[in-house]
Amino acid sequence: MNRAVRFDDIRALAVSHIDLAGVARVRVLPHRRLLSASTHGVTISNSVGFLFSVDDHLSRTPALDPVVGDVRGIADISSMALLDAESGLAWAPADLYALDGTVHPACTRSALRRVVDDAQDARLTFSVGFELECTVFRAPVPAAWGAAGTDEVGETMRYLPATSGPASSTRALIEVEAFGLGALAALEFAGVPVEQFHPASGDGRLEFALAPRDALTAVDDLALARVVLTRVAQAHGLRISFAPVPIVGEATNGCHVHLSARREGRNVLAEPAPRGRHGLGVDGGRMVAGILDRLDDGIALLGGSVLSFARLRPASWSGAAVCWGPGNRETAVRFVPGQAGMAAEQANLEIRPADGAANPYLAVAAILAAALDGITREAVPPKPVTVDPGTLTAAQRRARGIRSLPADLGTALDRLASSGFHRRVLGDVLVDAYVATRRNEWEAFGGLAPEAVAEAVRFRY
Ligand code: GLU
Ligand code: MG
Repeated sequence: MNRAVRFDDIRALAVSHIDLAGVARVRVLPHRRLLSASTHGVTISNSVGFLFSVDDHLSRTPALDPVVGDVRGIADISSMALLDAESGLAWAPADLYALDGTVHPACTRSALRRVVDDAQDARLTFSVGFELECTVFRAPVPAAWGAAGTDEVGETMRYLPATSGPASSTRALIEVEAFGLGALAALEFAGVPVEQFHPASGDGRLEFALAPRDALTAVDDLALARVVLTRVAQAHGLRISFAPVPIVGEATNGCHVHLSARREGRNVLAEPAPRGRHGLGVDGGRMVAGILDRLDDGIALLGGSVLSFARLRPASWSGAAVCWGPGNRETAVRFVPGQAGMAAEQANLEIRPADGAANPYLAVAAILAAALDGITREAVPPKPVTVDPGTLTAAQRRARGIRSLPADLGTALDRLASSGFHRRVLGDVLVDAYVATRRNEWEAFGGLAPEAVAEAVRFRY
């Protein structure tokens, strides 16, 4: 966040929260309401707070009615960012409060804060960084080629990817150079530290690596980065998608979560051989075990859209195999040991199944809680997998304890709904509202062809 923002530079404040469908919702306040944004906040209906699906259909749960009831969205001014000097538009993440002034049990940002506090009680400080993957399209043209979409008058339009490869090439960079450089400058201006960006494999795809931060700031940064990237794309006449499968048959968009943990300043993931397993510290191994143990039940929190499960396939580097391995891009948890001599600073875990359809506060809360639980239980990790699990036979995978994730959103939601662990960590109100919201999406889109789902949700995250 560009914390040096002067109040006088702000013309309006966008108070935004990410809802349970993974959509960033917003209320915009004029300058004179800036102070009250962080005290009284803004009125938000239960529906906008928690109950809209990605297609704006409403769910209902025992604790939350879509029609009757409001919450307050209180802007966290300490995390505010000015988006650009010319417009004077600022952005701030909101915490959702009940009308009696208590934190709302379905506020996802507060849920993450609680997990971070639990970690502090265990003398652990997590650092989180994201790989933000997206697909950039040129302005829509009628007919021609490209991914189909529908404009506001219902005419079929075509969206052409803005790059055509090769992966990681200077040619692809040059196709989106003005956007890319504009994005870098705008992210820096907004106070989002970027380590690097590159044209990824697959038409139109770019990846921005966001620097590690404390967990809450990292997720705020991710939410802010998506707003910034969407604005810069629009300013360049482009459209951007963070959907897991923006174009069926093309490479997919993940949103990998990088995670490390420090106790008394020491990175618990790094431990020099021979004690460490492949350089992974004892508590690091427990974190791996904790994350893997809860992954099948919690996968709906890491993406949770119909397309998330179209992405989680072998040979896509999405980490669809429930196992871990040093440097292994086909495992759900990749251990990144870091360069020789730099392990203490660099060693981290990459949780690959996460994607841009998630509510990232919930995704990170679920991952950190599982890691913390692994440490508390002194959980034992399985043996590392050092080959592509897709090259093993089914029997070999079974022998090594390698599982596949639930195959679709419906199954994943059943697992989450009956997960005592996630109910304990997140609370029943939040889990029930999340499952209801995503179940709505499953009912609306689960029976459609992936192309139709991609068309419906491509530009909604
Ligand atoms: N696009 C891949 C995914 O869906 C990840 C590719 C990469 O490792 O950068 O997760
Ligand atoms: Mg990557």
